[in-house]
Amino acid sequence: MSVQVAINGYGTIGKRVADAVSAQDDMEVIGVTKFRPTIEAEIAIEAGYPLYAGAPEKKAAFDAAGISVDGTINDLLPAADIVVDCAPERFGAANKRMYEKAGVKAIFQGGEKHERTGVSFNSFANYAQALGQQFVRVVSCNTTGLCRTLHPLSEKFGIGNVKSVIVRRGVDPHDSEKGPVNAIIPVLKVPSHHGPDVRTCMPGLDIQTMAVAVPTTLMHLHSNIVELAVEVGPKEVLAAWEDMPRIKIVDHAKGITSTAQVMELARDLGRKRADLNEIAVWREGVHVVGSTLYYYQAIHQESDVIPENIDCIRAMMELETDNRASIRRTNRALRIT
Ligand code: NAD
Repeated sequence: MSVQVAINGYGTIGKRVADAVSAQDDMEVIGVTKFRPTIEAEIAIEAGYPLYAGAPEKKAAFDAAGISVDGTINDLLPAADIVVDCAPERFGAANKRMYEKAGVKAIFQGGEKHERTGVSFNSFANYAQALGQQFVRVVSCNTTGLCRTLHPLSEKFGIGNVKSVIVRRGVDPHDSEKGPVNAIIPVLKVPSHHGPDVRTCMPGLDIQTMAVAVPTTLMHLHSNIVELAVEVGPKEVLAAWEDMPRIKIVDHAKGITSTAQVMELARDLGRKRADLNEIAVWREGVHVVGSTLYYYQAIHQESDVIPENIDCIRAMMELETDNRASIRRTNRALRIT
């Protein structure tokens, strides 16, 4: 029987996780929650997902709006094998207590701190740690991006240390209430939270990160400097990444000169919502001086963590004990080549 998955919070991440779960043959969406009767609630119903009010006291608003719900989260949780919590981070503590009471497994997202679960997850770096766990956190979009490209470097060549400057999108595309609109905001805390967060999946990695937020809504861009343990050329580095699924090498020479063209590529690939689950690395941006590697990578913040959520479900439910088997299944279903 396929694993019964509930999605708590059908927003930016939740709706993508729901579609990705539906595309797999070993799990199914038994319901999604919304807190308010917005257009996304109607879209969930149109997509065929049973809709539940996120809390008992929220149901009346759905009834008043004429949006039919199948019940509340209290009706959904008992039927679920696992919940993917896609609520904003401030609700993590209360939601965890609710899942504990219901005796259901749960995945949290990267907005939560590592301490919420004690296990943070990346499919390539530490799949085995999530096997059979009750609570696991899938790390944030930036941390996922860093783990994707750093883990193969660490495996193949060894890493002395990493320095990364993260240029962050200001807000998600749908968010018209926040900024910056005409400013660049430096994150003054160094290291930014990203470096320590990478270590939750790659313990012992010497990594320092800084971040700035810029007025764009699509993609983060990382400028990475990696001290490798050996001297290798850019071709060997690119070969290490080309061997990996979920990394897409893109060519400036073919017209991909900025994140705008990366997103256009995602649209041309025909992926749902123009998502790019892979991390884009510029071929011509890979430079090696001695044993120091320089490269740029771009992260589609709304979608790179989605395949990781699917692998995390498989690990926690012990559907696959080998990460490569899960990654293959997820990629095939999501058409990630
Ligand atoms: P979002 O605001 O787009 O969606 C959150 C959804 O949760 C909404 O549908 C809302 O109705 C619902 N909700 C509100 N209160 C709730 C509650 N108490 N319990 C359950 N659901 C509730 O948020 P998002 O961007 O999808 O972020 C969700 C999580 O994913 C956060 O931890 C965030 O840090 C993380 N994340 C976001 C991105 C991104 O780019 N947006 C990327 C990676 C990880």
